[in-house]
Amino acid sequence: MAPRPPGRSVVEEMPRGPVAPVVPTGGLGVRCSGVVHLYRTFEGHDVVALSGVDLVIRPGERVAFLGPSGSGKSTLLTLLGGIQKPSAGRIFLGDHEISRMPEPELAALRSRRVSTMLQGATRNLLPYATARQNVAFARLALTRAERREAVPERDLLARVGLDGVADQVVTTLSGGQRQRLALACAVACGPQLLLADEPTSQLSHADRDAVVALLHDLGDELGTTVVVVTHAPEVAETFPRTVTMKGGRVGSEGHAGAEYVVVGAEGVVHLPTHLAEEWPAGTLVRIEPEDVDRLVVSRGAARPAGDPAAGDPAALGVAAAEPDGVDR
Ligand code: ADP
Ligand code: MG
Repeated sequence: MAPRPPGRSVVEEMPRGPVAPVVPTGGLGVRCSGVVHLYRTFEGHDVVALSGVDLVIRPGERVAFLGPSGSGKSTLLTLLGGIQKPSAGRIFLGDHEISRMPEPELAALRSRRVSTMLQGATRNLLPYATARQNVAFARLALTRAERREAVPERDLLARVGLDGVADQVVTTLSGGQRQRLALACAVACGPQLLLADEPTSQLSHADRDAVVALLHDLGDELGTTVVVVTHAPEVAETFPRTVTMKGGRVGSEGHAGAEYVVVGAEGVVHLPTHLAEEWPAGTLVRIEPEDVDRLVVSRGAARPAGDPAAGDPAALGVAAAEPDGVDR
């Protein structure tokens, strides 16, 4: 967890009751292969938002998506949430291929098993309804029997520190309160996959920590797979895995604090930014396996025009990331 600011945080003031509103069902694994997404602009131009994403997220895993603005993070999140379909490539959630799923089935998946929190809390809320009405609305997908068994709305609101404002309309709530309400609504049906786009942007440190703690609590209690898009290093560092998007692809990954570049589908490796600056296009590079999980990348001198000879190799050890598999 990121260092907390002095004083009592919102998290410490919250009751530590269960987040789980319904019986835990475990997390959903994600598998993307060759995912491409284009947007057609009003002028009729195509914008390539994703240009071949290969990614596996295990059930129950917690992942933070990083990367510069425009690198495709939000697009990827909405595709994983089944809000839009990819232009090409395949996306599986568990055993279901959502990239080819008929809309009614996809809608059922979205209402029960997959929750997507869009960027900006209010986009996920009914602005003129109360906090409690918003949670009740999110729970309409539950059967009557499930609703009877579920944690009462007021308790779920208490869990996110909003019991005092349960009957206030959304427009009267602060940014942090809205974001916590959006989270309560997102978990109201006990999702197996929670996708959150910048859930802590524009929040105070205390509210940011509260939202992050709740995301992790949900993962712990329900086994939910949690994916967030974030710009905040303090948020990213609470996640065991980071995926950094670069130009519509997965550019690099962090596992337990170590950063790895990713071999793309055609065997393309994007250099880490610091090396890309140091090694200009045309630099000769040799990659050789040293043992099972280590590669040695050696650099030759930049090739003078018309001269294929390389100079002294400067060796750099690069450990390869463990191969991922998806559990279903
Ligand atoms: P990020 O979340 O990393 O900032 P996005 O997924 O929002 O990236 O955007 C990826 C690319 O797709 C950008 O070039 C962006 O301008 C473009 N884009 C996103 N949404 C649309 C849209 N609705 N219409 C046209 N282009 C879009
Ligand atoms: Mg975005």
